[in-house]
Amino acid sequence: MECIHCGSSSGPNASKGPPLAWCERFVEKLASRGFRDMEIIGGEPMHRPEVLLPLIRTATTAGLAARFTSNGFWGENRSVCDRSIKQLSDAGLKILSLSIDKLHTANVSHQSFLNIAHSFREAGFPFALRIYGFEGEWEEVDLVKEIKAVCAGHISVFTSRILPIGRAHENAARLKLDGWEIPEEDNHPCHSVLFPVVDADQYWYLCANGPTQGHNSPLCIGKMSGPDKFDEMLDRQYHYPIFRAIRTIGPLGMLELLGVPTGVGEKHNSVCDLCLHRLFSPNNTPRLRALFADEDISKSLSRHFQSQPCSMCGASSWWQRSGEWLCSDCYLNSFEI
Ligand code: SF4
Repeated sequence: MECIHCGSSSGPNASKGPPLAWCERFVEKLASRGFRDMEIIGGEPMHRPEVLLPLIRTATTAGLAARFTSNGFWGENRSVCDRSIKQLSDAGLKILSLSIDKLHTANVSHQSFLNIAHSFREAGFPFALRIYGFEGEWEEVDLVKEIKAVCAGHISVFTSRILPIGRAHENAARLKLDGWEIPEEDNHPCHSVLFPVVDADQYWYLCANGPTQGHNSPLCIGKMSGPDKFDEMLDRQYHYPIFRAIRTIGPLGMLELLGVPTGVGEKHNSVCDLCLHRLFSPNNTPRLRALFADEDISKSLSRHFQSQPCSMCGASSWWQRSGEWLCSDCYLNSFEI
């Protein structure tokens, strides 16, 4: 299964990934450096329970809140579903997110999601359940209402738009023809730079879109080739001026700040499209790298992009929305409906 709107590069032909022992050491490193949670994404993590369950256990033991996102295919058979919920709960899972929209339900039945909801209730709501859907055109509203009724008070629902990245970028025209709304160009600081992603081949990326761009993209921070390089990668992720700028003034603000031609008039959909295909265009990338290699520019940007207290909880924050500093937790919670 390779959904046409998926921002991820994973699928049946993707690499099997590093050995479990490597992943476990990586998770322990995350915990030891102060990360608070970890999300496992796919493809579909439940296709690899022999990796998923030990990783959830390792994260839990190390003090990280483990979560993962699923298409719910494993709910088709009720007894498998009951067993899976128990295994996930025993491993220490904190949040299960289900993707429910007509692009997924083309492959996964409504009954599968309902089975998960019933198993979840009968297990005594052992973790938090979230549903992700698509803003404005959610044809699965009735199904979601039914699930909410089964899990009353133990479920939260989020909606977002399809971002034209990864396979969704390749298929944007087809998605639009099918009536899907692809967001118009906008520019805002990017909070996703707070959440690094490591792919199955051990490459570390600035954000979840990185793996769709390949290893030569500026979004690829380096290759881990063992957990030894962990601290170096972390330092690049949070301290490289170029990445500080993306999370503070956004890709367009950064182009303007640096006087790089912005290509105004070109049509881009969403801030990620702008970032990936304009900011990091083949013409701009060498210029950006040269600018950021300049020590004076780096120093002045470092001063400009110091962390600030979150306006909601006071925690250290690296990210602004409409001029307001928010930490990642308060940002995510602000979207709950
Ligand atoms: S704006 Fe750029 S850095 Fe942020 S998520 Fe999109 S592609 Fe990644």
